[in-house]
Amino acid sequence: MSEYKWCHGPKCHKSHTQDRVRGTKGSKVLRTRKVKQHQGYQLGTSFYNWFCSNGCYNDFANTHVERIVAIAPRNSPLETPIDVVKEVRRNSWDNSEYTATNIKERGVDTQTE
Ligand SMILES: [Zn+2]
Repeated sequence: MSEYKWCHGPKCHKSHTQDRVRGTKGSKVLRTRKVKQHQGYQLGTSFYNWFCSNGCYNDFANTHVERIVAIAPRNSPLETPIDVVKEVRRNSWDNSEYTATNIKERGVDTQTE
């Protein structure tokens, strides 16, 4: 596998930065950046292996959003079963009581994707 990929940002080569300038005088260009390939837990699938910046990632996602969401369309909401639990606690500085509201997930999430 190559150590680098070209950034997939559709406008990467339009950004006016010195590191994108290539070529000799009279025939210089702004070139798409190379993206170093990250390895390890979750880094191997990170979008940072495909894009040089959040801006390039956003440009790509905004350009192709219809096709991206078609991969896994959401036509109904997902739900996580919860219990809302009230709990009386005491402040450490003056020992006064207050009620905290906690959300606890309940059971096993049966929705899979
Ligand atoms: Zn880029």
